[in-house]
Amino acid sequence: MKVDLDKFLAPYRIEDGKGFTLKDHDPRDTHELGIEKADAKELLRTGIERLTELQEMLYAQNRWSVLLIFQAMDAAGKDSAIKHVMSGVNPQGVQVYAFKRPSAEELDHDFLWRCARNLPERGRIGVFNRSYYEEVLVVRVHQEILESQHLPPELVGKSIFDERLEDIANFERYLAHQGTLILKFFLNVSKAEQKKRFLKRLDDPEKHWKFEAGDLAERGHWDAYMDAYQKAIQATAAPHAPWYVVPADNKWFTRLVVAGAIVDSMRRLDLHFPKVSEAERAKFAEYRRALEAE
Ligand code: ATP
Ligand code: MG
Repeated sequence: MKVDLDKFLAPYRIEDGKGFTLKDHDPRDTHELGIEKADAKELLRTGIERLTELQEMLYAQNRWSVLLIFQAMDAAGKDSAIKHVMSGVNPQGVQVYAFKRPSAEELDHDFLWRCARNLPERGRIGVFNRSYYEEVLVVRVHQEILESQHLPPELVGKSIFDERLEDIANFERYLAHQGTLILKFFLNVSKAEQKKRFLKRLDDPEKHWKFEAGDLAERGHWDAYMDAYQKAIQATAAPHAPWYVVPADNKWFTRLVVAGAIVDSMRRLDLHFPKVSEAERAKFAEYRRALEAE
């Protein structure tokens, strides 16, 4: 089965936040073209193969870097999307960072600091499992967190989240100018599906460890989170740093969109293996003779 990637991804890709609203995005969507779950496996396999090739060229060429940001409510499937989509890629070429609550050392710096020091090198793919976006998501929902950030009080005003969004947009523009391909994924799970997945965690002994009472409390702030996500996407979607609002009620479909988006963007980088110079190639016959004469 062949799919026009561009057409497939268009409904999920946000390059301009003006007028963006989450209401237009159905978490249950599995695309009107009607990709069947059975075809999805095969499609994902080809996508992962293509990604593996692109990553090898990215690494060899050592010019671009790729930053993949994953944000979502709990149980939306960030971890499993990352695991599946990256499964074929050479581990030496990928760096995954999970950003948890900031440490004391991290709180002693500006909020971008811990992310900036973990950005992917040229030739690498960096995966952020959560990111600096938490500063306009969880912190917006729980504004008391600001008190732990040691900011000068006169800088903590009404517009602090707008300022942060502006700073994030500027930071991403800077990274783009430096040769970083930035793709941001919001795994859009519905509240009903999250409930199902939480209940599964309670039912299945092998999933017990995944259940956290704190996640239940965050669920109680669902609407505030959705509002924060919407504002973040509105303020930071750009052609050089698009958001993908990925329907996340069906994991097979989530993986397909994420893999598709990465392949689609990386193939536009015009990646190729570095060319060996004419002069160097002329010496190959000599090298061969030397090896064969051993
Ligand atoms: P999982 O639960 O699948 O292991 P996770 O990403 O939910 O993965 P947790 O350790 O459960 O990891 O949660 C990390 C928590 O840290 C989240 O609640 C997140 O909102 C919070 N967090 C991340 N960055 C910040 C930040 N800058 N300020 C405050 N809280 C943050
Ligand atoms: Mg968690």
